[in-house]
Amino acid sequence: MTTTVDVTDRPLPFSAPRAARRGDEVTVLLNARVVDPGTGTSSSPSDVWLQAGQISRVTPAGRVPGAGNVLDLKGNFVVPGMMDAHVHLAFDGGDDPKATHQSSSDEEIIAQVVSNARIALRAGITTVRDCGTPKRLLAPMRAALGMASDVATVVHCGAPLCRVGGHAHDMGGEVRTRHDVHTLIAEQHAAGATWIKLMASGGGFTPGTSPSVFEFDPVLLREAVVIAGSYGMKTAAHAHASSSMAACIDAGVHTLEHASMLGPDERCSPDPGLLRRAADAGIHIVPTVIAADIVSRQLQEGRQVLANPLDRNVVARLESRFTNVTEFLHSGVSIVAGTDAGPAHVTFDLLARELERYVAAGLTAQHALKSATTEAASMLGLESQVGRVRPGLWADLIFTSADPLQDITTLQTPLGVLKRGLLIAH
Ligand SMILES: [Zn+2]
Repeated sequence: MTTTVDVTDRPLPFSAPRAARRGDEVTVLLNARVVDPGTGTSSSPSDVWLQAGQISRVTPAGRVPGAGNVLDLKGNFVVPGMMDAHVHLAFDGGDDPKATHQSSSDEEIIAQVVSNARIALRAGITTVRDCGTPKRLLAPMRAALGMASDVATVVHCGAPLCRVGGHAHDMGGEVRTRHDVHTLIAEQHAAGATWIKLMASGGGFTPGTSPSVFEFDPVLLREAVVIAGSYGMKTAAHAHASSSMAACIDAGVHTLEHASMLGPDERCSPDPGLLRRAADAGIHIVPTVIAADIVSRQLQEGRQVLANPLDRNVVARLESRFTNVTEFLHSGVSIVAGTDAGPAHVTFDLLARELERYVAAGLTAQHALKSATTEAASMLGLESQVGRVRPGLWADLIFTSADPLQDITTLQTPLGVLKRGLLIAH
């Protein structure tokens, strides 16, 4: 008679665990209090077992692990890695990102992309969605990011589609005809984009466009959503004007970016009916408050960080981003966290501060945390891979000294970060 022994359950006789160091693949997180954004609970001290970059099981603390790299969290918290649904990796978030971008070679921009994705990861942001990058850079950007293990996972939108001369048209996404829409979506799908960004209104960075105007042919907008869908791609719409938000809801987009609710008078007029329509359609709104805070402060200090003569009420437009979050909350629409990192002094490590602003606007800490984890994963279609500390999901995790369900600011200073089980910072 033979006896089968499950070695994964017992200490191996020939090797002992050792404390994990930076760069190691971690095998067990000891004495970790597991935070679940979905249920709003944190566990008693537990051991989180990892295998091949994934979470394999969570057991009560106290087992003596076998061989492998062990990290003792000593009762600190383990939280799902955060996701930033709106960044622009091709810009540096420095003094003058547009000028720097224009004077840089493609190789320099790609190096900046990788550096930005690294900064995000060190701040506990394990996934980002790039919401607009020059079309020619999409494929090389993916290739460079694919070579690095210490960067956030990037979901790509590629170059935004816009009207001729529309917002960010210099990225290469102008469309005049249905044929243009088909061609651009097919090309960007082939280059690795899984989302299509649509510039449904003007924007602060592009002279000649107006944020308070719906600036996309409604037939082409609908066409873009349908064609993207035929490739299995989702659509994200930059929409400051209420009219552009309404058109995007009608067209069936998946996310509204900024959602500034600007009326024809160029002023923000919250529209609960419009937000309820978005909620009923299952649309997610990405508020991007922190970028607005930082850019409006610079404008008030007299720095010309935006230069669009048609964006006449720019400071009021930016300041309404924060107050609009309360409107989003009351409407019941899904809020997904995004920073809009890339513009002047809007760096890639600010998502925790974005969440702090949501709490200031009235969200509970749990709701704010969900916006960067479970809600974001659901929006991205990645809920079977990331967003919770559960067996079968990637070990994309953050360690914090306090419970973020009680104190959201603890996410601003993570004790450590794991990406696919690899210890990035500790
Ligand atoms: Zn943006």
